[in-house]
Amino acid sequence: MIRSSAFANKSYAILGLARSGMATLDALHASGARVLAWDARQDLRDAAKDKAIIADPLETDLSDYDAVIVSPGVPLNSHPIRDKASDDGVPVIGDIELFAQARRSLPPHRVVGITGTNGKSTTTALLHHIIRSAALPTQMGGNIGLPILSQHPLAAGGIYVLELSSYQIDLTYSLDCDVAMLLNISPDHLDRYDNFDAYAASKVRLFDMMGADHAAIFGSDDEKTRLALQLIHSEGRVQNIVDTSAMVLDGQADWPSLQGPHNMQNAIAAVAAAEALGLREHQWRPALKSFKGLAHRMERVAETQGVLFVNDSKATNPASTGPALGAYPKTDEPRIHWIVGGLPKSDNLKECEPYFGNVKQAYTIGEAGQMFGELLAPHMPVDPCEMMLTAVQHAAANAKPGDVVLLSPACASFDQFKDFEARGECFRCAVDSVIENGQIGENLRTGIELEAGNGGGGSTL
Ligand code: ADP
Repeated sequence: MIRSSAFANKSYAILGLARSGMATLDALHASGARVLAWDARQDLRDAAKDKAIIADPLETDLSDYDAVIVSPGVPLNSHPIRDKASDDGVPVIGDIELFAQARRSLPPHRVVGITGTNGKSTTTALLHHIIRSAALPTQMGGNIGLPILSQHPLAAGGIYVLELSSYQIDLTYSLDCDVAMLLNISPDHLDRYDNFDAYAASKVRLFDMMGADHAAIFGSDDEKTRLALQLIHSEGRVQNIVDTSAMVLDGQADWPSLQGPHNMQNAIAAVAAAEALGLREHQWRPALKSFKGLAHRMERVAETQGVLFVNDSKATNPASTGPALGAYPKTDEPRIHWIVGGLPKSDNLKECEPYFGNVKQAYTIGEAGQMFGELLAPHMPVDPCEMMLTAVQHAAANAKPGDVVLLSPACASFDQFKDFEARGECFRCAVDSVIENGQIGENLRTGIELEAGNGGGGSTL
């Protein structure tokens, strides 16, 4: 756990006692702070009662407090805590800001902050793997893995690699990253921001907080990322700006867990960060090969009878699904059986369009099923399946050696599942069942038998 003298004898209110809230409570309590804590759930309030005064910050005078700490899940644009804190003159912050404030009492270290709409977790995990492979002390945290305040402080020379969502950046004011990275920006989370510009501006704040001599890395050249780069450039404050959008890296065929154009972008960004940290090619290149990837991101769950099943449940918007479709280009003919749908975030699939030619057939599921069916029908055969098991069964039955059954939904999961992990697990179970029941290529076999029968070859059908 990270303890800091920066918190001693101060007063904090914590709203939300899920994972990061509870880790924050532990760290503040252990550092000698006074804490008031609250959660709508009684069991979480009970779990906190030995370390905090249990009371609702909305009903407490907060004017003597140093900060209110909220979880990134609290929608600040609509939650009353924002106005309450502002009326009482108290800042609203998150656990990353507390980490930033604790830094001066930690052994000398560096911090990498990674944001972007898509690819944050993959790039964070990859960079962490590269640094660990180079035998440097490193931890990853933020929007991935364990809350940062619950982790062991690193020994001197260590590197914290933080995945930062825009919600986390919104709650952070003093994180000076040694390397700050913006991978890409496409429309997402628009329920939490006034508009797309406000979402993009939230990400740009990561660079406003950084020291002038630290490295700013930009990933793709989508419109908003390019504008962000130009803005940081024109301000002239940050000296070391790295534009990776035109960089190339060879050897992707050797990186089993980094397939597809999007993972090339992630690999280039991670390598740029590794170099900014002083690592050399002989240190990062072997790590690209040994990287194992993350569950639910282009995860190869089975390969049998020449058919590959890929779980990309984390693709919750069209911008992340597009490159997944690009990862399996057509050979003689298209080979992707694409399971798509869920709770839609947009009324189009524009970012997927360039790759439609790689899709043999779409199998729609969930609430978006009908809309996507209408959008896709002019481009490819569409099978309206509604349910995951039906989609996997139909796709498996149609698949032949060389084909890929790909779940890359381009949608949130909440219409049918608890979260994207549950959706990915459902896909995995459905894949297990079609393999066990021998359903792969079923339609194909039937077709072949029929043909044989028509040719007078003694089919019994
Ligand atoms: P995040 O943490 O930003 O959500 P992940 O690494 O978990 O990103 O990947 C989320 C989804 O986006 C996955 O389905 C993955 O295939 C896709 N993806 C990964 N990297 C990129 C990228 N650079 N551009 C577009 N999509 C990506």
